[in-house]
Amino acid sequence: MLLEVKNLSKEFEKDKPVVNNISFGIKEEEIFALLGPSGCGKTTTLRLIAGFEHLLEGEISLNGKILSRTGHHVAPQKRGIGFVFQDYALFPHMNALENVAFGLGHLPKHKREVFAEEVLCRTGMGDFKDRSPAALSGGQQQRVALARAIAPKPQLVMLDEPFSNLDAMLRDSTRKEVRGILKKAGMSAILVTHDQEEALSFADRIAVMNDGKIEQIGTPEEVYYKPKTRFVAQFLGRTNLFEADAVGVNEIQTNIGPIKLDCQACGRIVCSMRPEHLTLEKPNGTASEKTGLIVGREFKGHDITYHVLLRGEHYIVHTDNRILFKPDDQVVLKPLEPAVVLRDS
Ligand code: ATP
Repeated sequence: MLLEVKNLSKEFEKDKPVVNNISFGIKEEEIFALLGPSGCGKTTTLRLIAGFEHLLEGEISLNGKILSRTGHHVAPQKRGIGFVFQDYALFPHMNALENVAFGLGHLPKHKREVFAEEVLCRTGMGDFKDRSPAALSGGQQQRVALARAIAPKPQLVMLDEPFSNLDAMLRDSTRKEVRGILKKAGMSAILVTHDQEEALSFADRIAVMNDGKIEQIGTPEEVYYKPKTRFVAQFLGRTNLFEADAVGVNEIQTNIGPIKLDCQACGRIVCSMRPEHLTLEKPNGTASEKTGLIVGREFKGHDITYHVLLRGEHYIVHTDNRILFKPDDQVVLKPLEPAVVLRDS
């Protein structure tokens, strides 16, 4: 592991941990995301790793070198970590080139600007090297800030909500470009975000945080399709939750009929099924207790979201645009995949 975070805790007020005994590791060249709602402790975790905060308990090491533990704290500038802040934090009185060259004090003066220009070119900003930050758009400032962070060749780059100041269109394209730049440079990075779509599309692995703790770590596919907890299932997107009694079986009876489980389960369980793992059919014959009613429909071009009411329960179904129903149509819900049993059932 490149970065190892072990049993990390932090309090600002006594007995009120904002980071509560979390552990994770980041591999070489990996892009890792800390994802969670506002106030769950993501930024504090990032700031602890960068050395801007002192930990209460635990240990942080980079490439085998201990950076923080009780009674030991390596200064931020000596950690070999680059930082891209939410507001970019470029020096307003310096042009783009000077901003990038600023962190290259270890190089002889004549080499600093040559190398800074090279890195600016890598982030697509070579033509803007003489512009001051005020004369650059948000997306352009973002790329200068990234160039400044990666120019000193840090072992790890931290990105704290770096796309949140960009409008939706620019956010999408900048995200793709920044990921491409990091991958091409073979850099490891940690992204902090509360935007699940951003984490899913940007990161190789994601740690989902809630209330100072990590609920699950996995690839985007794992956390989305195999959530371990109710929180992860609901935070990562829309889902249908089913509650039932299981007796050492891998199938449960529900309002919509029998549903297969992704594992054997016992006792009262809650399981999650993504809307795209359900489909709709016309009822076969007369309406029965398994017949639902379409109560809402969101047409999105390539797919459709249906809202179905069945025996007082609300279900969400994503289908492709060939499955056509209209409000008040009667439908039967059919599972396409096993439901995922949640650990905190
Ligand atoms: P956001 O997405 O809103 O930035 P976050 O998940 O990054 O949220 P943090 O900024 O890490 O959350 O904050 C976690 C908790 O710690 C919050 O309740 C916050 O108010 C508190 N906190 C953060 N910094 C300080 C500080 N310097 N002093 C006191 N409390 C703080």
